[in-house]
Amino acid sequence: GKAIASALKQDLKKATELRLKTGKRRPGLAVILIGGDPASKVYVGSKRRSCEEIGFKSASYDLPASTTEAQLLTLIDTLNHDDEIDGILVQLPLIEHIATHKDVDGFHPYNIGRLAQRSPQLRPCTPKGMMTMLTQSGISLKGQEAVVVGASNIVGRPMALELLLAGCTTTVCHRMTKDLESHVRRAEILVVAVGKPNFIPGEWVKEGAVVLDVGINRLEDGSLVGDVEFEVAKEKAAWISPVPGGVGPMTVATLLENTFYAAEAFHQA
Ligand code: NAD
Repeated sequence: GKAIASALKQDLKKATELRLKTGKRRPGLAVILIGGDPASKVYVGSKRRSCEEIGFKSASYDLPASTTEAQLLTLIDTLNHDDEIDGILVQLPLIEHIATHKDVDGFHPYNIGRLAQRSPQLRPCTPKGMMTMLTQSGISLKGQEAVVVGASNIVGRPMALELLLAGCTTTVCHRMTKDLESHVRRAEILVVAVGKPNFIPGEWVKEGAVVLDVGINRLEDGSLVGDVEFEVAKEKAAWISPVPGGVGPMTVATLLENTFYAAEAFHQA
C-alpha cells in the first residue's frame, strides 16, 4: 500500500506541475476540524502534508468545539463557492467524543464492534428498527436468504450484521455488485438502502419475499418515495414496508428505545 500510494502521489505531483505549466491553478482541499481531537489532528496534519508534498493547495479550518451548526454550515457554504477549493472534508470527532454508553445512534466503532462480535449493546437505530419490524411481524429469519442492497456505515453494513446475527445467509450488494438483479431475485428478505427513487423494479421481487425499503427520496412534485417500485413489488411480496411510514418512523422510535436502554443498562437512577 505504501509503495502504491507513494507512486500515486508522484503521478499526482507530476500532473499538478503539468496543470501549473498550462496556466491552471493548484487543486485545493479544505479540511475542517472541529474540537481539536488529537487523533483528528493527526489525520488532518497528514492530509495537509500530503497536499503540500504534491503541490496541492491545502486550507485548514481548526474550529473550537463550541462552533455552532450555523457557523459550520456558513463555512461549508463559503467553501462550496470558493473557486480555489475542489474538495471539502469535515473531520468530525463528535462520535468519538460521545461515551460509548451514550452513543444512542450506535455508530461508534465500539458499538459496531459489539454487534459484529454478536454481543450488541447500543445498536444503530435504522437497522435495529427493521429487526424490530421483522420480529414484531412474526417473520422467522433463521436460514433465510437475506440480501441487503446498500453498504453504508449507518444502514447497509450494520443491517447485514443484524441479519447475520439473526441467522440469515446474508449478501450485501453495492454499487460495484455485478448482476444486482440475480441477487435481488433470490432474496427472501430484501433490504434496500440506496437512495434512488424506484431503483429496484417491483418485478425483481421474489414471490412471498419480505421487503424493507429504507430509501427516502423526494420527487419534484414534493411526494416521497422509497427505493423499491412499491405498486408492483407489493403484488409479489408477502410483506413490504411503505415509504413514507415504514422504516422511517421505526428509526426515531428506536432512538428513543436506545436512549431508554442506555438509561436502564448504564445508569442507576
Ligand atoms: P449512502 O449513500 O451512504 O449509501 C448508499 C449505498 O447504496 C452505498 O453503499 C452504495 O454502494 C449503494 N448503491 C448506490 N448505487 C448503487 C447501485 N447502482 N447498485 C447497488 N448499490 C448501489 O446512503 P444511506 O445513508 O445508507 O441511505 C440510503 C437511503 O436510505 C437514503 O435514501 C436515505 O435517505 C435513506 N435513509 C433512511 C433512513 C430511515 O430512517 N428510513 C435512515 C437512513 C437513511
